[in-house]
Amino acid sequence: MRFETLAVHAGGEPDAETGAIAPPIHLATTFRHGPAGERIAGFEYVREGNPTQDRLETALAALEQGEAALAFGSGMAAMSALLESLPNGSRVLIPRDCYTGLRVLALEFLPLRGIEAVAVDTGDAAAVAAALGGNVRAVWLETPSNPQLQVADIAAIATLTRAHGALLFCDNTFATPALQQPLGLGADVVMHSTTKYFGGHSDVMGGALVFAHKADLYEQIAHRRHVTGGVLSPFNAWLTLRGLRSLPARMSWHCANARRVAEFLATHAQVRAVNYPGLPDHPGHAVATRQMRDFGAMLSFHVAGGREAALAVAGQLKLIHNATSLGGCESLIEHRASVEGPNPFSPQDLLRLSVGIEHADDLIADLDQALRAAAQPS
Ligand SMILES: *Cc1c(COP(=O)(O)O)cnc(C)c1O
Repeated sequence: MRFETLAVHAGGEPDAETGAIAPPIHLATTFRHGPAGERIAGFEYVREGNPTQDRLETALAALEQGEAALAFGSGMAAMSALLESLPNGSRVLIPRDCYTGLRVLALEFLPLRGIEAVAVDTGDAAAVAAALGGNVRAVWLETPSNPQLQVADIAAIATLTRAHGALLFCDNTFATPALQQPLGLGADVVMHSTTKYFGGHSDVMGGALVFAHKADLYEQIAHRRHVTGGVLSPFNAWLTLRGLRSLPARMSWHCANARRVAEFLATHAQVRAVNYPGLPDHPGHAVATRQMRDFGAMLSFHVAGGREAALAVAGQLKLIHNATSLGGCESLIEHRASVEGPNPFSPQDLLRLSVGIEHADDLIADLDQALRAAAQPS
């Protein structure tokens, strides 16, 4: 079955009791069992599992070509459950350019568990090869990365991790399985913040792990989630399931808009550089062309004139909101350096843009007026 069809139907069997085409939301926290705890329909207590979450997990596994999925209350709950499952004394390689939550987890929390995270340039497979070995038990990829849109070669790095007996984890939030399926390229586990494109409407938080194999690691993390409790609510599982029905359709519109916005920005006098893997001069363009169906709708750009000019552009936008997060229908912009805490990692002249599903002409007009207004001497 093609991806678009799976997205509409996976986990979507009509309700057995009523024939309802839209799935019911089971809010029950507990399920009747026999006197000795015998399960009647497979469920016991909501923290362990529930029917609405089961539907979502079935759909997520199907869309990522995995054997099993686990839903979590947030992307960070999914990410930390996976990384904290590594044995004490492990080392994990993480991308130098990555989601801020991963960097904070790596700096502040993983060391408490005896796990050392080492930042490498995952855009360069040779740099990953050089850092492998010893007690490196896993490599974490985020491709394209946040906020600089660096591209990692998933298949090449999967060959390396396999040769070293390490696991390959891939944060697929930016690309989504509509554009990129890391498990098919050799990754062991895919992580998602479903808060972004899966939900798709900036109104539901969630996270997920999808496993290539329903084996020990899956069982271990399912047990961890049950005990540590980073679970999704049934209502949020339902909203996410509803969001993923339109994921392929939204992604193709998102990508078409992003391409036009990137091309516009790339030729603008007030823009020093654009990071978008769909542009032919992007250093990851060839790899992205190989491993992605399209280039996504996240981009970042460097404003000529540095921090003040970047803030002026962000401040002049009328249609595009200044807000964090991404993947919703509405376009959002953010000066990342301003929100990354006291030691920002992002360049001061950089703005990150989540291109929404408005009309590209309107987005370009808004960016154009803001870039012009910011360039006026005040
Ligand atoms: C948002 C995001 C996360 C964290 O997910 P939450 O749902 O906010 O906890 C992780 N990785 C990437 C790439 C993200 O964009």
